[in-house]
Amino acid sequence: MLNAIIETATDGIITIGEDGIIGLANSAAAHLFGYEVDELLGNSINMLMPSPHREQHDGYIQNYLQSGKAKIIGIGREVLGKKKNGEIFPIRLSISEVKLKERRIFTGIVHDLSLQKKIEKDLRAEKERAQRYLDIANTIIVVIGKDGQIQLLNDKGCRMLGLKEEDAIGQNWFGLAIPDESRQEIKSVFQTLMEGRQIDYYENNIITHRGERRLIAWHNAVLYDEQGNINATISSGIDITAQREAEDRIIRLNAELEKRVDKRTDELAEAVNQLLDINKKLQYEVKERKAAEEEVRKNESRLRQALEKEKELSNLKSRFVSMASHEFRTPLSTILSSADLIEAYPSEEHQKKRLRHTTRIKSSVANLTGILNDFLSLSRLEEGHFEAEPGWLELDQFCNEAIGEIHGLLRPGQYIEKEGRMKGVELFLDKKMLKNILFNLFSNAIKYSKDNKPILCRMEVIDNTLHIAIIDQGIGIPEEEQQHLFTRFFRAHNVENIQGTGLGLNIVKRYVDLMNGSIRFESRLGEGSSFFVTLPLLQKAASVED
Ligand code: ADP
Repeated sequence: MLNAIIETATDGIITIGEDGIIGLANSAAAHLFGYEVDELLGNSINMLMPSPHREQHDGYIQNYLQSGKAKIIGIGREVLGKKKNGEIFPIRLSISEVKLKERRIFTGIVHDLSLQKKIEKDLRAEKERAQRYLDIANTIIVVIGKDGQIQLLNDKGCRMLGLKEEDAIGQNWFGLAIPDESRQEIKSVFQTLMEGRQIDYYENNIITHRGERRLIAWHNAVLYDEQGNINATISSGIDITAQREAEDRIIRLNAELEKRVDKRTDELAEAVNQLLDINKKLQYEVKERKAAEEEVRKNESRLRQALEKEKELSNLKSRFVSMASHEFRTPLSTILSSADLIEAYPSEEHQKKRLRHTTRIKSSVANLTGILNDFLSLSRLEEGHFEAEPGWLELDQFCNEAIGEIHGLLRPGQYIEKEGRMKGVELFLDKKMLKNILFNLFSNAIKYSKDNKPILCRMEVIDNTLHIAIIDQGIGIPEEEQQHLFTRFFRAHNVENIQGTGLGLNIVKRYVDLMNGSIRFESRLGEGSSFFVTLPLLQKAASVED
């Protein structure tokens, strides 16, 4: 049974005698050292020991036997073993002594510590690694226990407080790191955290080993014990002193800038206002200048017009002079020859002949007067000092007067026939202009008709407009020349032998325009011409009953 117990034990069991020779070894022991049981039995125990114990072991036993002082026996300790393959490994060795009658036996129980040692080593490495993580972080990491004592402080924290970690651990955090004035406050924050309420973020000052205050921004969490109760806080803190100072500086700078911007804005607004004022003044000046320029332009154009007119007038005068010197020749030579002839007929019986010549003289004078009148009218029109001066006239009487004045020009057998309702019709018109119109049209009709041909003069008022028609049965106007009829100095080629200036119709047209009326004509060569004038009345024509 004993054998079975020994054999099935998981720890190795080896016995040796006083001579150190193995007397018994179980399978577990052989297995542990990599031997077969048989290889152990009868051999010295030091085969299982590395140097220097291997050499000294016999001495150990002797020492014990002589001195009775046990160094290991009954105590047990961790020692190193040596396997068959030379590998050295940790074991826990418990040795007990069995005293038999004639000899002593030492029993060693061997427990392999390789695995445990390895786990311990791994754990240590793991812890060191974790510590390195904490130390490498540029944040302070502190774990504070329930009692306010520091349980962990990483390298950064230690450096800030000027302590080694082993000196910091166990110290009261609040007494060590928190300035007096905020100690109470921070303690109550800690208390709140310990009660399980969250304060994820908090900022407070700590005092460094140099006595400076640093502002730390903390992120907090809590740690639990195995029962799930909060037993510590873990906080990571970043030194935000410089950052906060920078922020403060930025805020101050910003305020300063805003002030400056405000000031600048005021100055700008002021400048803008001044500019606007200047702009207004400038606009005003520009306006004034434009008006002045406009005035200058107008004056220029007036001057140009005046100059043009002046040129026109002088041109007109010179044309007239050349025309008049030609046109005056015939009536003047008629007058001269008639006068000569009158002188040649002094006696009574020549009275009839004399009369014929005085009539010729009168007609020539009328001709000259006509030419001079035309020119006078034209130059007055050209000068532009001509405006209608309306007055009341009775149409029938007026027509008679006009015919009376033209009467001297009539050829033998010619007569003017009146037509239309004229009697008792009162009109408000410019008499001089109207007479001039009639005179010119009558004298043309007379000039350009043969003897004995009647001339029709029709005048009537329709729709407050005076309609005048002067119709002759004369030589007519060649069709191709009709378009030029109102042009100054224009004369048709079929009138070359009849005296004229080419001014009359132009003057008529201009009077008609001045009176806001219209003129047109119809004519057939060799059959006669009809001139139609319409003049709007300025005031409603009045009918006076006879
Ligand atoms: P003038 O009679 O002095 O030549 P007018 O200006 O009065 O100038 O007439 C211009 C031209 O128109 C005349 O020369 C003539 O050729 C033509 N004319 C005007 N009236 C008549 C008319 N009643 N019959 C034929 N020709 C006319």
